[in-house]
Amino acid sequence: MLEATGTPALRFLLEHGSYRRALSAFPSLTPVCLASIATGAHPDVHGIPHLVWWNRGEERLVEYGSSFAALRAAGLARGIRDTIVNLNERHLSKRAQTIYEALEDEGLTTAAINITTYRGRTRHLSTIPGAPAVNGPKRFFFYSLYESDATGAPLAVLNRALGSIDAYAAAVGRWLVTRDGFDLLVFYLPDYDFASHALGPDAAHEALARADASIAALFAAAGGPDDFLERYAVVLCSDHGQTHVERAARLVVAGARVTASNRAAMVYGDDPRALAAALDGEPSVGVAAFLDGGRLVARRAGEEDVALLDEFPGGAERMAAALRNPNAGEVLVSAADGWEFVDLAGRHHIGGGSHGSLAGPDSEVPMLTVGLGPPPASITGIKRLLLEHFEAGVSRAA
Ligand SMILES: [Zn+2]
Repeated sequence: MLEATGTPALRFLLEHGSYRRALSAFPSLTPVCLASIATGAHPDVHGIPHLVWWNRGEERLVEYGSSFAALRAAGLARGIRDTIVNLNERHLSKRAQTIYEALEDEGLTTAAINITTYRGRTRHLSTIPGAPAVNGPKRFFFYSLYESDATGAPLAVLNRALGSIDAYAAAVGRWLVTRDGFDLLVFYLPDYDFASHALGPDAAHEALARADASIAALFAAAGGPDDFLERYAVVLCSDHGQTHVERAARLVVAGARVTASNRAAMVYGDDPRALAAALDGEPSVGVAAFLDGGRLVARRAGEEDVALLDEFPGGAERMAAALRNPNAGEVLVSAADGWEFVDLAGRHHIGGGSHGSLAGPDSEVPMLTVGLGPPPASITGIKRLLLEHFEAGVSRAA
């Protein structure tokens, strides 16, 4: 969609930068991928395993919002708290360092709008009385719930289908660029993913045009696109791709706990090989994998061969990093082409788009850099690129 787009702001950036396709993390689901972007690491380091997972320490399910119905099925108040607060305060590993923490420790000012992985060093009170305080970047804006500065932006949550979230981001972003109020701005536009789930991966043109308009608002605040690039370097990327969904399945493994959503699933239980074998006849399973004494094993239809993962870009490496996450299930499942796993509430996206698997269309993302040298080959390379950029800037200034 990006490569073929004629929308003006995105086209301008494509014509002024270096572009490649890069790889996402596995599972290629937003909480996992945004944590990988923010920390420069895979799930074995950052600890976020899936949209929905079993918290062994607390013996309970964590659901980050596979769908609103799934959130309600998991307990709405706790689901919202897990998604907004606990993901950053408790689930994101302390061994991982976010880009906000790294740059602010160097005395720089970071800003984030709407991105769900935001852990930083500055305590922010909520705009909603009774909601907990959280630690974010110095300048922090989150769906009207946390706002470090009064920007006059409209409410973010009233009409998502019409793009209210990205319109909020654009209003806050315009305010920040007008003041040159940051060293790093993370500008997250999720409305495109929302539209692509409903319409399919090659049909959300209107949502892409709205994303373009949100970026154009930043350009305008700097005095135009050329002035914007005079002042800022840019990384433009997606956190994951999407594929068409034609069929949906509810994964069940006797005697085990299954957490499933979109195109990835995890199975929690005692004997990983037996759990994977229980899925041998299941057509929705593209490949299942587990660790056997620390060794990666891939299984499909009774055949065990780690080379099964070579069908997928970065398959073995990304699967191993996902399995070595202490919060992951004993078995991880990547969906077969065209299949999706229903969530807790039975929701799916048949006729539309979804993501989460190891397959290329779910896992490949556009990666564009302007003023930063060659784009990284993985979303986990963005943090290092930014750190090198700011280090170079600091030593030049000295
Ligand atoms: Zn999505």
